[in-house]
Amino acid sequence: MNKIKIIGAGLAGCEAAWQIACRGLPVELYEMRPALLTPAHKTGMLAEIVCSNSLGSENKNDRISAAGILKEELEIFNSLILSCAKKSQVPAGGALAVDREKFSSLVTEKIISHPNIKLIREEVKSIPDDLAIISSGPLTSNALANELKNIAGERIYFYDAVAPVLMKESINFEKVFVSGRYGRGDDYINCPLSKEEYLNFYDALINAERNLPHDFEKNKYFEGCMPVEALADRGIDTLRFGPMKPRGLIEPRTGREPYAAVQLRQDNADGTLFNIVGFQTGLKWGEQKRVFAMIPGLENAEFVRLGVMHRNTSVNAPAVLDKFLRLKSRENIFLAGQITGVEGYMESTAMGLAAGINAAMLMSGKNFPVWPRESAIGSLINYLMTTEPKHFQPMNMNLGIFPPPSQKIKGKQDRAKFFRDNALKAMRNEFQENSSLLTSNPSL
Ligand SMILES: Cc1cc2nc3c(=O)[nH]c(=O)nc-3n(C[C@H](O)[C@H](O)[C@H](O)COP(=O)(O)OP(=O)(O)OC[C@H]3O[C@@H](n4cnc5c(N)ncnc54)[C@H](O)[C@@H]3O)c2cc1C
Repeated sequence: MNKIKIIGAGLAGCEAAWQIACRGLPVELYEMRPALLTPAHKTGMLAEIVCSNSLGSENKNDRISAAGILKEELEIFNSLILSCAKKSQVPAGGALAVDREKFSSLVTEKIISHPNIKLIREEVKSIPDDLAIISSGPLTSNALANELKNIAGERIYFYDAVAPVLMKESINFEKVFVSGRYGRGDDYINCPLSKEEYLNFYDALINAERNLPHDFEKNKYFEGCMPVEALADRGIDTLRFGPMKPRGLIEPRTGREPYAAVQLRQDNADGTLFNIVGFQTGLKWGEQKRVFAMIPGLENAEFVRLGVMHRNTSVNAPAVLDKFLRLKSRENIFLAGQITGVEGYMESTAMGLAAGINAAMLMSGKNFPVWPRESAIGSLINYLMTTEPKHFQPMNMNLGIFPPPSQKIKGKQDRAKFFRDNALKAMRNEFQENSSLLTSNPSL
């Protein structure tokens, strides 16, 4: 019988392998560690957690969150990663944090003892010709990343240079105005700054704590996507000729161009999220919240994603993937995990689960499942599919990517409950007809 090859036994690869194997199909799972380590992985254990040991919040009592909804959905499919995380949980308030060694040992043990999974410790350097899932993660080895680049064209990123993304409804619309430059269109939300506001903001920005060294801009990988603070280092007016240029923006209240302006651009097809144009940044996360709250209109901004700049091999999903997570140009190749353009441990796991089930269906000659738009998994996939490719940037699970409710729901918890109820209902409706898809291994 043919096997499904999976490249990379991280969070997504192990989840995909498990979902396929538990449906009775054989898997060859390739992992290059320990012979070849990535810059962040330290061991040969499968599903090694490279940084924080928190897998995000859980839904408990009345505290509902987007990350919690995603976990509830993963539970419906008996996710291996979620189950091992719960068995190695350490106290962390409302979050699901793990003892990282125990967690990886449990996943490794489950994978190597499954009769349908063959683990092969080897670096894969080229894209297979047969049915395969690439789940080699943000730190994909160079040989494979270059191969992927040949297929995905220039639409593969080796670094993340991400500007913060915020909820539209948290913007103070009394201070901002909607307009394109020179009155062309109404695609942008503009935050005008007076001279005094600009100077205060500038001062806070250049003195804020950074993750990145001050000589960061010399790094050739980042030409063309300079962090906003590095641009500011070049001189007091650089930003006013760059991302804070006021040219052609007429403030309705004064009838004049402001001294400087920050522009916000729609980030998802539903128009619930906006990013700060040109504000990719390596400032520490707490500092981003403090400094960007000084921009008029963003005093109470609710950030769903803060800026990051780090190595991250991932594709431009809306341009190169189909809705089943396959490369449009190679329908036998699925992508899973962070490399699809999601960000985060559980988001990567979810894209492993979806790609694994999709690949298993393809191999068994069955129809692909439909991941409901109302669900957390469906919302992540929808984000990957519908975002404007030119402005695509990786995304984590957040309330802003669920389909917007037809009526405004006040209060974050009420909104979260609404999304949770809809998500779980849609999942059950969709999958109860084909219950073999729901329960991959009840004895886990
Ligand atoms: C430095 C860093 C820190 C991060 N910190 C966090 C955090 O704190 N919280 C969070 O939620 N997310 C974090 N992320 C983002 C993301 O959630 C994790 O990277 C997550 O592990 C991604 O899961 P994955 O399965 O896609 O990739 P991985 O878990 O990285 O798994 C990929 C696997 O593929 C293997 N591999 C690579 N190339 C090959 C090849 N050619 N052949 C065979 N095997 C190969 C690797 O060795 C690895 O085991 C971080 C990312 C990075 C890079």
